[in-house]
Formats: sequence, structure tokens, C-alpha cells
Amino acid sequence: MAKVRVRFAPSPTGELHIGGARTALFNYLFARKHDGVFILRIDDSDEERSRPEYVEGLMESLRWLGLDWDEGPYFQSQNLERYHRAANLLLENKKAYRCYCTPEELEAGREEARRKGEAYLYPGKCRNLTPEQEEKLRAAGRVPVVRLLTPDRGETVVEDLIRGSVRFDNALIDDFIIIKSSGLPTYNFASVVDDAQLEISHVIRAEEHLSNTPRQILCARALGCAIPSYAHLPMILAPDRSKLSKRHGATAVEEFREKGYLPEALVNYMCLLGWSPSLSGDEEILPLEEMIARFSLERVNKTAAIYDTEKLTWMNGHYLREGNLERITRLAVPFFAAKGLVSPNPGKEELGKLQKVVSLMRERAKTLSEMAEASSYFYSADYEYDPRGWEKHFSREGTGSLIDKIAGELEALPDFKPGTIEEAFARLAQETSLSLGRLIQPVRLSVSGRTGGPDFYELLSFLGREETVRRLRRTVQQLEGR
Ligand code: GLU
Repeated sequence: MAKVRVRFAPSPTGELHIGGARTALFNYLFARKHDGVFILRIDDSDEERSRPEYVEGLMESLRWLGLDWDEGPYFQSQNLERYHRAANLLLENKKAYRCYCTPEELEAGREEARRKGEAYLYPGKCRNLTPEQEEKLRAAGRVPVVRLLTPDRGETVVEDLIRGSVRFDNALIDDFIIIKSSGLPTYNFASVVDDAQLEISHVIRAEEHLSNTPRQILCARALGCAIPSYAHLPMILAPDRSKLSKRHGATAVEEFREKGYLPEALVNYMCLLGWSPSLSGDEEILPLEEMIARFSLERVNKTAAIYDTEKLTWMNGHYLREGNLERITRLAVPFFAAKGLVSPNPGKEELGKLQKVVSLMRERAKTLSEMAEASSYFYSADYEYDPRGWEKHFSREGTGSLIDKIAGELEALPDFKPGTIEEAFARLAQETSLSLGRLIQPVRLSVSGRTGGPDFYELLSFLGREETVRRLRRTVQQLEGR
């Protein structure tokens, strides 16, 4: 294979969404797998929809995902001269022509096609204007567009690495615009000029662009450029197989970040949206190195992938549990800071405590924000008891004196290590003939306000003897004062 050079070419018209991010990831994996070059290009030649402020956000999302690019960002808006030179070359070689039809004339043609129930194709009216005719039209104030002269017969075949040969009837491709009257290039033309300039070997992008590809091939042929290999990635659909949209929950990378997902979980999840490392399809947890080693376009599916946040959340839980504790703690800081539990730049001691909290909480948490949300009782006793928990674990007769007895036992322990506490509870269970659950549940509710949480003995040990007993006694008072 010649040197692999691929590009991710987002239009800065919004945030980076899961679809775009998956395209970026597949380009990245393909480049890394083949020791190639991954290029970032910003397709910002659409003057109406592009916003410079989105560019930074796109790059930030890519960086956060760890999809670092080797070249770029290249901006189409800075390449206008080259598009004009390319168009002029085509004009000189009679492979393109200027069209002076007014929007009204074109609309009339479209209207007629609608009436007949046909697809509108530009009829090539300006194909054979003489220089004198052009001069006249210009003198009358008409501003031309440039159209590519396309073949009327035959087929243009896209050799797609995922879909095989996809044939397009040239009769259905009109002389499309390559330079608009504003002087700006159309996407199809700019994309081809850029791909040629950047010596792109493989164009890996969303399926929605498959229908643009014959036009791009015709542009490349007219320009005498090499045609890259194409790979169109399958669509990503919502679980009900509808188009993915806001109502299906978070789809922007930034949103996942704010909700406390880990980049490695999102990357792992996205790599399976349309690709599987093996035939069985049951391998799911893949570290990045393995994704790179095993990635191939041959194993990308043709059929749409279904977006399933439950699986993503499950994966996030996995990476929270298995990840390097110091790193997860660092990533947790902003979430705990937002809840006022730690300072935004915690010192060593604060960080040490947070690390312990994270190590306890990550066993069950699904996201960092959920973890922070559920961790306030590690920092303050200012919590309410879960009302349903109260009903279940506090309302039974004698619970106050039971908790009081437990508090007394804990006070008398030689130390407050998890193992020592565990033994004490086992002893109490024997002594009182109560089940361990019956002893543990009211205590957990008392010291945390919650019915669930991390390992019980670890939790008490972490809170410490003094704090645990204080919280238990407070509950006793409340139960007896009712
Ligand atoms: N700017 C186009 C998009 O965002 C790029 C398509 C392509 O990769 O050629 O969809």
C-alpha cells in the first residue's frame, strides 16, 4: 500500500457529535494501523453555516478523545485561491463552463420538473455560449457560476472498500456547480482539490457522502488528479432505528465529557459502532492499542449501527473501575469541585482523601458526575435520610436501641480497620440472632443517608470511628425523639 494519508474534515457548523467522532476515530485507527498520517481539515467554505467559534470546540473534543492529528488544521477558507486556479484550469480546458442562468430561470426549471414528477437536472443551457454571448451577459450585470461539464452517458463507478462497486448513471448527474456566484467553491469541488493537494490516499467518511462521490470522481478526473480509495461508514441509528437526534439523549462529545464519561470508554464504544474485531462480535472491551492493531476496513459493516447508551454507560463503569486510580481521581476533581466537595485545585491532602473516596465509589459508579453526586456524605454529615430507606430500615421497633448498641460496640473496638469492623458485625449477628443485613442496613442509612454505596466495612473505616459513632448517635436521638 502506498503511504496512507487520511483526513477528518468536519464542517464547523456545530459541536462534534458521536457520528463525526466515529468518523474521526476510524480515520485515526486506520492511519495508526498503517503508520500513516492523520490530517485535520476544517471544511469552512460554507459561508452561511460555518462558525469560527466551533473550530476550537471541535479540536478540543478531538484532543479530549485522544485523537491527535499529525497535520493541520488546514482551513478551506484559506485555500480559495487554489480552488479558483483549479476552476480556471478546467475552464481553459473546456472541462467546465460559466453559467449565467438566473435563480429565477433555474427555479422555473425546477418547478417544471416537480410538475412532471421528475428529478431536476440542470439542462446544460450555458454549455456552448460564445465569448461574445458571455460578454453580453456580463455587461448586463449577470454574475456567473462555474459548472463542471459532465458526461451525459455511461456510468461512474465508486469502488468502495466497504460497499464494493457502487454504480451511478451519468445521465442522472447534471453539470453541477463547482464555483458559486459568490466565488466560493462548492463542497464537492473544494473537497477534491484539497484531497489532491493533501495527497489523501483513503477517504473514510459517513455514508451520507456516498452520493457525492461520483461527482467528486468526475471533478478529480477533469482535474487529472489521482482518485483516492473510498470507504463509506455505516449510519448510526437510534435504538428505534430512527435518525439519531437530541431526543435520544446526549450525542455531542462535549456532553458526554460534562456528564462524566471517560474518553477511553467513549472511544471503545465508538469503535464498535460499525466495526467488530472478530466474527463472533462478542469482544467488547478493547484498549486503544488493540483497536489499532486489529482495525481493518474489511471488518466494517455495511448495515447501520445502533446507538445504545446503556452499553456505553456499562463500558464507562468498566473503565472507571479498571483505570489508573490517580488518573481517574484527577479526572474526578472538576466533578467533585462542582458539588463543592473539593477545591478546584486540591492540594496533596485533599487529593489523597479524594483518591480514597474514588477508590471506594468507582466500584459501582457509572459516571464521574454520578460518583460526585453520590459522594457528599464522605465530606459532610449534612444529609437527609432516604425516605424509603427510613421506612424500611428505621421504622421497626427497637431500631434505635439496636443502633445504639452497635455504636457502643464500635467504640470499644481495638482499631477501626475494615476487617476488625467486619468481625464485630459477625459477632453481633450471632449474639443478637439477627441477620447481617438487618444490622448493616440501618447503619449504612445512618452514616450515609443512603441505602446503597461502597463496601460497608471500608466505608465505616474510611469515615473513622469518631465520625461513624457521632452519626449513629445522631440517628439514635432522632429515632428516640419521634
Ligand atoms: N465537511 C464534510 C462533512 O462534514 C466532509 C465530508 C468528507 O469527508 O468529504 O461531512
